[in-house]
Amino acid sequence: MEILKYDLLIIGSGIAGLRAATAAAWASGGKISIAILSKIQAMRSHSLSAEGGMSAVLYPEKTNDSLELHAYDTVKGSDFLADQDAVQVLVEYAPKEVRYLERIGVPWTREPDGRIAQRPFGGMSIPRTTFAADKTGFFIMSTLFSETRRFDNIHVYHEHFVTKFIIENGEFRGVTAYDLKRGEFKFFYAKAGIIATGGAGRLYRFTTTAHSTTGETLAYALREGIAIKDMEFVQWHPTALVPSGILVSEAARGEGGYLINKDGERFMKKYAPQKMELAPRDIVSRAILTECMEGRGFQHESGMCYVGLDLRHLGEEKINKRIPFIRELAHKYAGIDALSEPIPVRPAVHYTMGGIHTDTWGRVLTADGKWVRGLWAAGEAAAVSVHGANRLGSNSLSECSVWGRLTGEQAAKYVLEQPPLSSPDGKVVEIAKKEEARVFDKLLHKEVNAPMPYEVKRQLNDIMEEHFGPFRHGSAMAEGLAKLKKLRDISSYRVVDSSKVYNQNLKDALEVDGMINLALVIGVGAYARTESRGAHYRLDYPKRDDVNWLRHTVAYLYGGEIKLTYTPVTITKWQPEERKY
Ligand SMILES: Cc1cc2nc3c(=O)[nH]c(=O)nc-3n(C[C@H](O)[C@H](O)[C@H](O)COP(=O)(O)OP(=O)(O)OC[C@H]3O[C@@H](n4cnc5c(N)ncnc54)[C@H](O)[C@@H]3O)c2cc1C
Repeated sequence: MEILKYDLLIIGSGIAGLRAATAAAWASGGKISIAILSKIQAMRSHSLSAEGGMSAVLYPEKTNDSLELHAYDTVKGSDFLADQDAVQVLVEYAPKEVRYLERIGVPWTREPDGRIAQRPFGGMSIPRTTFAADKTGFFIMSTLFSETRRFDNIHVYHEHFVTKFIIENGEFRGVTAYDLKRGEFKFFYAKAGIIATGGAGRLYRFTTTAHSTTGETLAYALREGIAIKDMEFVQWHPTALVPSGILVSEAARGEGGYLINKDGERFMKKYAPQKMELAPRDIVSRAILTECMEGRGFQHESGMCYVGLDLRHLGEEKINKRIPFIRELAHKYAGIDALSEPIPVRPAVHYTMGGIHTDTWGRVLTADGKWVRGLWAAGEAAAVSVHGANRLGSNSLSECSVWGRLTGEQAAKYVLEQPPLSSPDGKVVEIAKKEEARVFDKLLHKEVNAPMPYEVKRQLNDIMEEHFGPFRHGSAMAEGLAKLKKLRDISSYRVVDSSKVYNQNLKDALEVDGMINLALVIGVGAYARTESRGAHYRLDYPKRDDVNWLRHTVAYLYGGEIKLTYTPVTITKWQPEERKY
């Protein structure tokens, strides 16, 4: 087992991870060594597929926008579960980040007068979503990645699958990783770490997220005593293409697209008469599914019910200029020309509001609120609590960039204050070696009677779709939990490929092992939360209950079981009110 030493490890190379790397490199004046680890090619990280844009208040005097209004929209969108101090940080830093990204080369779409263009997005009172056509993630990723290449002290480890966080005496000491290309096992020993491993949309079958978005690192964190917050809040995006699940960005509705049922009716007038198609995602998703359940949807040959996303009235010029990719993907993947026909769409899992429990600055916490020294989390993997029970579209890219920067700067400062890295002590090396044995001897071992990891993934997806979907019920969730516990009892997998090089079977086994535990965190949290709030909707408790449930769920592992505790929501300005759109 090779041992590599770095001052700072960044796990994940999406927008959060890359931004953390550039911030740490700047903040340390290039003095610290930084490694970025990604289980896939860094530039294939899921952030690449972000389409619609990044929220920020850019021209308050011209648009009547304000940081206060952005904060209020976010808090209301979150169904009042967001921590308002964290939201304040988001809205204050987001404009700085848009301008930073512009300086390093992101080609933001402009207005004719040269201003950066901004489009409307769901739940935002004012157009404040900054975009680069409908390929925003691609442009941000390419620019940030090029920026990391300017620093000699940032090393990128592509296709290095992190299997364990090593934490000793409450302090981060490094990670172990399976190098897929070389078929080797490595221990990265470090002073500090930033977890930026993205979300967990692939716990579900019908999802807009990349195949790599599996969330196993959150379960690894749980095993090391780190807590996971608000994981029961899973976002369904209203408009995924039928039947593939590819995202049709909210930009389509932001640019004026309508949602219509099979009677040609703009049904959103019944559910959100003021905001219509631009209500927050939880509301629009439930509206679409209600139309389907009440027989007003279209029926696809795959068996899926859907509604139409109608862009016809926008005209060819606008579609080609502002949302060209949407037209292209509807054509390629559904055989639809959006100029002449509505695009078939239905809700799909898109985002996980919950994640690693952190404080407002991204410091990773245990269930009793202690900082794991030297460890931060940023981006979708983290729950700094700006999205609460429901994220507003375009707030995620801002979050990734803001907390990428903040955690990168803090980690650099921390590293510079520590003594130089010595050699790892025998105890941590022993832990790393044990992990190598677990991965290469136990998991890789050809267990003929065990199930294939991808079969287990399929079963897991089925359970999540059936029991923990957008409409939940106590009795269905109880059944789902029993099924998940049975899956968790699987102790080995049939890894048929015996090679260590690019062993996708082994990678699947590593992923599914973590995914089951993370699914349980969702299930246990959702079952316990006897109310409906944001994306968590219970048929048996259809009302929000602020008296008992205006609090964050904090899950942790104790004696191999998931336990829950709760922390208060930070309210600085806005008391909960009825959420009307
Ligand atoms: C199709 C789509 C479009 C979207 N569009 C928008 C938008 O327009 N605006 C917006 O605000 N939000 C959007 N979102 C949400 C947003 O894109 C994501 O929340 C955001 O990109 C997440 O970035 P991240 O840096 O946290 O993680 P990711 O970009 O998901 O990167 C995660 C990284 O972690 C690495 N990783 C994971 N596990 C391991 C492991 N075990 N070992 C090593 N590495 C690991 C991966 O390799 C990857 O590099 C969209 C989401 C989807 C699905």
